[in-house]
Amino acid sequence: MTRPSIPVIGIDLGTTFSALARIDDHGRPITLVNAEGDLLTPSAVLFDGEDVVVGKEALKAIATEADRVAECSKRDVGHRVYHKLLDGKQYPPEVIEALILNKLRIDAVKQIGPFTKVVITVPAYFDEVRRKATQDSGYMAGFEVLDIINEPTAAAVSFGFQQGYLDKEGGSPAPRNILVYDLGGGTFDVTVMQIRGTEFNALATDGDVRLGGYDWDQRLVDLAAERFTGLGHADPREDPLSAGKLWRECEDAKRTLSARRKASVVCHHRGASERIEITRQQFEEATQDLLDRTRFTAVQALRAAGLQWNDLERVLLVGGSTRMPMVRDMLRRLSGMEPDDSVAADEAVAHGAALHASLILAHQEGLPPMFKIRNVNSHSLGVVGLDPLTGRRRNGILIPRNTRLPVTGKRAFKTQKAGQRSIRIEIVEGESPSADDCTPIGRCSVRNLPPDLPAQYPIEILFHYKPNGRLKVRVTLPETDRRVDTEIVRETGLDKDRLDGWRKYIRGLSPTDQR
Ligand code: ADP
Ligand code: MG
Repeated sequence: MTRPSIPVIGIDLGTTFSALARIDDHGRPITLVNAEGDLLTPSAVLFDGEDVVVGKEALKAIATEADRVAECSKRDVGHRVYHKLLDGKQYPPEVIEALILNKLRIDAVKQIGPFTKVVITVPAYFDEVRRKATQDSGYMAGFEVLDIINEPTAAAVSFGFQQGYLDKEGGSPAPRNILVYDLGGGTFDVTVMQIRGTEFNALATDGDVRLGGYDWDQRLVDLAAERFTGLGHADPREDPLSAGKLWRECEDAKRTLSARRKASVVCHHRGASERIEITRQQFEEATQDLLDRTRFTAVQALRAAGLQWNDLERVLLVGGSTRMPMVRDMLRRLSGMEPDDSVAADEAVAHGAALHASLILAHQEGLPPMFKIRNVNSHSLGVVGLDPLTGRRRNGILIPRNTRLPVTGKRAFKTQKAGQRSIRIEIVEGESPSADDCTPIGRCSVRNLPPDLPAQYPIEILFHYKPNGRLKVRVTLPETDRRVDTEIVRETGLDKDRLDGWRKYIRGLSPTDQR
């Protein structure tokens, strides 16, 4: 395989764990260890005065200084600020994500020298706003983000690589349908893919950006806390430190329960201390509804792809939480086949991202592509219109979800008055007919229309979804040949000046790091 001449890097920026992979001299993806010697870096950030600590140490600090530690910040991406104050300050979630990326960068630079070009992964179910925020995180961390790629697609590419599909002769032309079930720490994603030779086509995608191992942890915390209070003690959940400690214990017990039939957690609070035993069965009963939600979503995705279970060749397990036996059992019953865990659950996504980076860099250097990826949009795209009868704000869907990307949706508008110089459009993503139940992506305004247009003059707005799920808006005046690319003004998110400010701040945290 011919490879680009600079380091080829892919990053899995996970809710609970992140990993960085590169393509080695033999063209194979490998995960780089961090400064602590681990393949996975906990996505936790400790704000300690002037210092920022990322990873294992930050995670440990939850038990002693919970009010300074950010964890699961990826769940808040798309919101203006992280859900709690950190060391007394507010931070946008994408800044916390940037700090995690920066740690991965610094640790990797020590091993392979400086690099800037990377591919970062996002859950397939991320909406446009969250995708943009993730790209911004990469920018603030000092990267040039070549592209973002969906996590299940990355996992499928890594699987294809491992199976030899990417070798010239390896790809069989017969289509193979696989369902990628990715249950991580904070997000759940399911994607149905069709692999044809070296082409990876997403057929349908679905998921939940607020469902993952963390929710299973919380159920264990509740189980343990209820037992503890049942013994006459005060509730440990009322104090952030006791709750933080208990959560660490429970996350550990959850892993034990994947291998054994029972586990125990020690709960301390207000001087009292108890060892509490929990069986796998109790754990599974307490979390059955969470598992059911993933089952329902998987069934829905398969239906959206127009397939039945027996059309699938494999069910591919990705994400640390698929190690829970209840997940495998449910998928076995549902699909009638043994789920495939042949890709490394924690590394496949980063590996696929690195393979995607090599594809882009090879293309930039004029080298032939090793494989192709086709994606679908995970949410319908619409513009807000007023219902003339009820006056309600409606979502006028332009591009339905699960449409093959890239795609361009068009909508014709008309000027209302003669001489009108501007038009304002609100863009939303979501399935609800009511615009207010959808995610606002932003507004775009068409200004500087020619001065003497008559009333009812036609204007066409083109919404172009790029293969990575990012949106561009273009306006044309069909009766002239004028076309303008317009900027989307975002409701949330950081403007260029603030991005640059944060980028400078993050650079200042690592002054010894030469770039
Ligand atoms: P993300 O990409 O969302 O950060 P990962 O795929 O790295 O998530 O998975 C992390 C999640 O997997 C955590 O919730 C962790 O507790 C869970 N996990 C890891 N190993 C096990 C195990 N052996 N049994 C159960 N859960 C596990
Ligand atoms: Mg993940």
